[in-house]
Amino acid sequence: MTASSVTLKPGDTIGILGGGQLGRMLATAAARLGFRCQVFSPDPDSPAFDVVQHGTCAEYADVEALELFANDVDLVTYEFENVPAAAAMILAARRPVLPEYTVLGTTQDRLAEKDFVSGLGIATAAYADVSSVDALRGAIARIKLPAVIKTRRFGYDGKGQAIIRDGDDLEQIWIGLATKAAILEAFVPFEREISVIAARGADGHVECFDVTENEHGDHILKVSRVPAAISESLAAQARGIAAAIANALNYVGVLAVEMFVVPDDGGPKLLVNEIAPRVHNSGHWTLDGASISQFEQHIRAIAGWPLGKAVRHGAVTMTNLIGNEVNDYARWLTVPGATVHLYGKGVVRPGRKMGHVTEVAPEPPK
Ligand code: AMP
Repeated sequence: MTASSVTLKPGDTIGILGGGQLGRMLATAAARLGFRCQVFSPDPDSPAFDVVQHGTCAEYADVEALELFANDVDLVTYEFENVPAAAAMILAARRPVLPEYTVLGTTQDRLAEKDFVSGLGIATAAYADVSSVDALRGAIARIKLPAVIKTRRFGYDGKGQAIIRDGDDLEQIWIGLATKAAILEAFVPFEREISVIAARGADGHVECFDVTENEHGDHILKVSRVPAAISESLAAQARGIAAAIANALNYVGVLAVEMFVVPDDGGPKLLVNEIAPRVHNSGHWTLDGASISQFEQHIRAIAGWPLGKAVRHGAVTMTNLIGNEVNDYARWLTVPGATVHLYGKGVVRPGRKMGHVTEVAPEPPK
């Protein structure tokens, strides 16, 4: 039986690797469809532990804990992309793992990911492999400044990246990055950032949610708005790109594709920035703003159930509560039409995603 030919039944147990808010919202959506979930996370304070009956608190390198976890579940999925390959392989030898962990080889490495996307004929910012300060100088000569340098692995929310401008001290920037594996990307003068949340079933059927427009502050998502303020033809192109990526990865589950909208003489065009092989912050609006959420869609896809055709309830705004902003929750509770989600994280830290608020308004006339 291949991982993608599984069909789960209500009452079966889904194992979730990772215990953050994404795992918490996946487990809640799974429960609504009659599944049980077991969460695996090394952090005893993981918010996802609060919503499941069974949790495994162990390191991802703990082979015995992984084996026991596999015995307890019918299928394994994950809520973050940096799952160690060794852990995924141990689990995959015992239980179906979806999306298949080979996807992670592509998406954990920004260079492999950019090569993969460009190999499909999909546009990205100009980029170069950079493994030394000399290589960085060569890459700058080709790509020009300003440019963005990013570590190939383990970057998120702007961590492991820096903008390089004329006159910057390249030695210092290279040392500050603390890696020998990076990429340099042309700085993209985008007019807006968008993302597509796409689900692909084991039968190859793809369903995309409406295109989301994303506003970042300090590289962290602050607000998502749906629909994105782009033409229907550009939105169709964006969905087509996400579907092509999901198909080429033979993906089963939900993924997010982040894109830049760039002004161009012939009309705005799209550049792919990043693929997230999981449910995504820019899809949280679907919980209250659509008939089916990204979390339910992911559970349906991995369970071998039919994907839903999500109907959007209106113009949706999702605002992240980051760090101390969560202290404002009582005010949000009084805002008419607002739905408040708090992730139950004990410790507030700057930049930490603590919750979000969704507001759904009647769609403005076209
Ligand atoms: P990333 O970690 O690649 O998703 O980048 C985080 C954020 O940094 C993006 O959402 C953009 O706002 C910004 N950013 C990343 N790469 C570029 C780029 N090449 N040009 C301009 N802005 C960028």
